[in-house]
Formats: sequence, structure tokens, C-alpha cells
Amino acid sequence: MNTNRPKSISDQWVERSLKAVWHPCTQMKHHERFPLIALSHAKGSWLYDQDGHRYLDAISSWWVNLFGHSNPYINAALKKQLDQLEHAMLAGFTHPPVVELSERLSALTSHHLGHTFFASDGASAIEIALKMSFHYWRNMGLSDKKEFICLKNSYHGETLGALAVTDVAIFKDAYGPLIRHAHIVTSPDARNATAGETNEDVATRSLKDLETTLQKCQGKIAALILEPLVQCATGMAMYDASYLIGARQLCDKYQVHLIADEIAVGCGRTGTFFAVEQAGDSGIWPDFLALSKGISGGYLPLSLVMTTEKIYQAFYDEDTSRGFLHSHSYTGNPLACTAALATLDIFANDQVIEKNKVLAKAMTESFAWAQNDSNIEHLRQKGMILAFDIKESVTTSSFAKEFFKEALSKEILVRPIGRTIYIMPPYTLSTDELTILSNGIEKTLRLVLQNKS
Ligand SMILES: *Cc1c(COP(=O)(O)O)cnc(C)c1O
Repeated sequence: MNTNRPKSISDQWVERSLKAVWHPCTQMKHHERFPLIALSHAKGSWLYDQDGHRYLDAISSWWVNLFGHSNPYINAALKKQLDQLEHAMLAGFTHPPVVELSERLSALTSHHLGHTFFASDGASAIEIALKMSFHYWRNMGLSDKKEFICLKNSYHGETLGALAVTDVAIFKDAYGPLIRHAHIVTSPDARNATAGETNEDVATRSLKDLETTLQKCQGKIAALILEPLVQCATGMAMYDASYLIGARQLCDKYQVHLIADEIAVGCGRTGTFFAVEQAGDSGIWPDFLALSKGISGGYLPLSLVMTTEKIYQAFYDEDTSRGFLHSHSYTGNPLACTAALATLDIFANDQVIEKNKVLAKAMTESFAWAQNDSNIEHLRQKGMILAFDIKESVTTSSFAKEFFKEALSKEILVRPIGRTIYIMPPYTLSTDELTILSNGIEKTLRLVLQNKS
């Protein structure tokens, strides 16, 4: 921090934060060199700090925001609900927001997934799906089915159960001794294509590895968990939808549940409301589907797991121990459910999925420059997620942090993952904002790569 100039309001908040707040996913000492931003308010695509600087939120505040900050429609719905019922326990009680949300989500799956269990954060939803899968098999007399399969480079959250099906060294290595390890199978990441291979070929090849594992562990696997279409947290690895069709078939063949983690890719991110809708002509349905992040419009912590009638029925019994034994204090919070209902209203009233096709195309066009940049490879896009990689030969290990810092000085919030730069903006991003974003990223990249050499 510059000690010669008087401390700004932002400086003061940052200083207090660094003393008292332990920030997530952060080596706190790095804040000696990399900025912490003290926010004041936000509106639309923009975050404003305590000194009045603004930042274009190109990553939707860690992929949660869908319709801009301080969205008038969601604000109004929340204010109304606030005077009605802020919270009550969901065990033994129910209320209109949680009922309506469950019904509307069920309808969005054409009632394939008609039962919804609620929690507050994404990782908890994953814990729930894993436990429910295991418990289903146990209730069916198949208690040997207690192992899980995940994809290479998968990310499903950071609590111990979710970490078990996460394959990210930085999150996992330190806590390895605490974790029950899962089977990791080949990722269909299209970037793994060898010369002459199509994306579909990569998917087909990866499915063979999945089948080998399913064969080898017959009778022991409870579920396969995957993120449909895009493995977000490990660098927006995109893959061919045929993998989902094949995975569904193999899960059926080997009596294994399919858990679709749509915490990041759900709610329209990939171009359909659920990413699994893009598998083949009519989509596939998983046995469990987890949502969080965007479902509350980015307003309040809310996660949920949707499942089938068949699974629900396996728990339905006089015997308490056959029931699903899991709860969180804020399960089904009425305010969070209200934010979700308002979010679903906007999807329906504003034809968001249709309109996003236009915005997605504008994103493609706006980043055309990246196609011809010799430092860039694997420019890719799936709906409202656009990503590209900076070639390894021109990056350094601190590339992501340097880029983040430089972009902030250009009023843009972008957090590269390793050498992958991506945008995942709010769906309300305007054409002008898209231009600011694309230009800002291009300029930032030139600067960062220049400083490095
Ligand atoms: C963010 C995320 C999670 C974890 O959600 P939290 O709310 O951060 O616990 C799980 N799976 C995927 C795919 C995610 O993107």
C-alpha cells in the first residue's frame, strides 16, 4: 500500500478486512502484492468500490449472477417476501415459495425430476446427491454400492465429500489424508483431441475408459458424477454432448446413478436451461441434478438436488432410518426461494434462452480477434461461456494473478484459471459493455505478455 498518500476510504476498508476477514480461495499473504477491492455497491454489470471506481463483472461474481446486480424485479420480489416470512424451519413446515419453486423446477424437467431437496451452497448439494445415491442402493439391499466415479479435472466443491469427487490438485492434495478417494476416469475435454480426432471421437474414446472402470468395479459403484458439457472450474473444458448420451447408457447398463452437477452450467449458461437438454435430440435426464449459483439470480445462498419418483419411493417408508437423513438450518429459506422464483419469472417473461442466443453470437463476434492471435489456442464457446487458453510457452506461473490485476486497472473483473481466460457474464450484458470487455481483455493481454518478456 502506498504510504505517502492519505488513505482512501477503500484503503481503510481493505486494511480492516485483511486484519479480520479470512478470504476464500486465497493465500492471504499474496494480498501484499495483489489488490483486494472494497466494494460499496453494484448495479447491472458493474461493481463499484468505496472510492467510486467501477469494475465490469465479466464473471458474474463467480458465476452466480444472471440478470445483473440490484435487479429491480428480483429486488421487488425480495422486499415483498421480507415482510411476509423471512425464514422458518422446513422440517415439519412448508411455505409457498419452496412449494412453488419445487413445482416449477419439476415442470422444467417435464416432471422427470419431480422431488427437490434443498440446501444452501453447492458443495452441500453434492454431499446430498452422493449420500442419497448411496442410501438408495442401501435401501434396495445393495449396500456394497458405495464408491463413486468422477471425471479427470472435475470440480464439485470443497467440503470433504465433494472433494472426494473433485480432481483438482490445489484443492485436494493438502487434504488428501481426510478424503475417501473416488475412481477418476478420462475427461472428454475436447482439447485432448489428437491429430484427426473430432470432439465426438474424444467423447467416444473417453466412454471406453468409463466402461472399463464400470466393468472392473461391478456392484461397487453407486454413482457417476459429472458436470454436463463444460468442466468449469478447471479451465472451462468443453466437451461433446454425445458423452452424456453414452454416460447415461452405461449408467443404466451397470446399474449406476448419474449425478449431473449443473451448479455452474445450469440456469441457461450453456444455451439451454439445463445443460443435459443438449444431449441428442431430446436430451437425457440424470438420476440427480444439482443446482446452485445462478438459481437465486446470484442473490442468496441456495442449492438444491432434484431427483426421480423411483428414487424418492425407495425412501418412502414407516421406518425413519430408510428416510433421507440430512438437514441444514437454512433449508428452503423463503427469501432464497423467492429470489429463485423471481429468477424463473425473468426466464419466462423475457424469453431469456432465446435472447441469449443473440448475445452468445455477439460474444463470438466480439472475440474474433482471439482467433488470429498467435499467443492464443483453443478459443471455444458454449452458450454464455467463452474461453481461450494462452499458450504455455508465453505464460508464467503468475499469469492469472498478473492478468487479474492488470484487468482491474482497466475496469474489468476477469479471473483467469491458470492460463485460461474466460468470460461468463450476466445475461443482461449490453453490446457496449461487451465491446468494453473484449477491448479490455485484448489490451490487458498484450500488456501482461509484454511485461513478461
Ligand atoms: C461452485 C461449484 C460447486 C460448489 O458450490 P459452492 O456453493 O461453492 O459450494 C460445485 N460444483 C460446481 C460445478 C461448481 O461450479
